[in-house]
Amino acid sequence: MQNKAFSGVVQCDEGISWVLASYFWDMNAESLDYDVVAFGAHPDDVELFAGGTVAKSVSQGLRVAIVDLTRGELGTRGTAETRATESALAQNILGVHHRENLDLGDGFFEVNEVSLRKVIEVIRRLRPRKVLANAWNDRHPDHGRGAELLHRAAFLSGLPKIDTGQEPWRPEAVYHGIQDHWLNPDFVVDIEGYEEVKAQAIAAYATQFHQPGNDDRAPATPISSPEFLQHLKARDAAMGRLAGVKLGEGFQTKRPPAVDGLNSVC
Ligand SMILES: [Zn+2]
Repeated sequence: MQNKAFSGVVQCDEGISWVLASYFWDMNAESLDYDVVAFGAHPDDVELFAGGTVAKSVSQGLRVAIVDLTRGELGTRGTAETRATESALAQNILGVHHRENLDLGDGFFEVNEVSLRKVIEVIRRLRPRKVLANAWNDRHPDHGRGAELLHRAAFLSGLPKIDTGQEPWRPEAVYHGIQDHWLNPDFVVDIEGYEEVKAQAIAAYATQFHQPGNDDRAPATPISSPEFLQHLKARDAAMGRLAGVKLGEGFQTKRPPAVDGLNSVC
């Protein structure tokens, strides 16, 4: 048996850093307790709204999983099969420990008892401390429904009288990403140094986004142009500027995060 220690260190400014999380896990055990589980309505959503945050979390030693709610089968470009291959490649690029797909139905999933129970079951199995979810308001209507689904499922998962044959589990927090539309963030994760791995993870979705040098004959979509990739980089710079760092990813949360003291606020 091999035990290994990991520390997640938040660095706010020169000379100000502190340990966010320090713990042990057994590298050989079948532990399903994740520090972060990021849920996206479609394969590629998590890469788009939190690719830098996920890559940084992994590098800080946090145990991270991605759960895609649908297979993205209604996408104008590519197929469910190509998107599965692309999402596995992106998972490897980000170094994410586990990825699965709930196949709730692209475009048609609803926030109802069936979908809530499926998400509750995965939350109780993976037992995340933090949940990342889609934006509350966005261009694609699945994103808002994905946000509501996770908000409700994360709460209901903690109620013992909902019987799934599992122990109840309520994540500490659900943080909603900001994807296509601009929303004012409640906090920003500094992702400087992780912009390249984020770009590579997004580029793994070769059917969805512009590939420099490719003769692209697939139907154009709002996300397939080179301008969309420029928009993503500009968004990270704008979010970073808002928070006083070079590059950032913004998140919204219904419950304000508590901090230990003024030194903990960057
Ligand atoms: Zn999406």
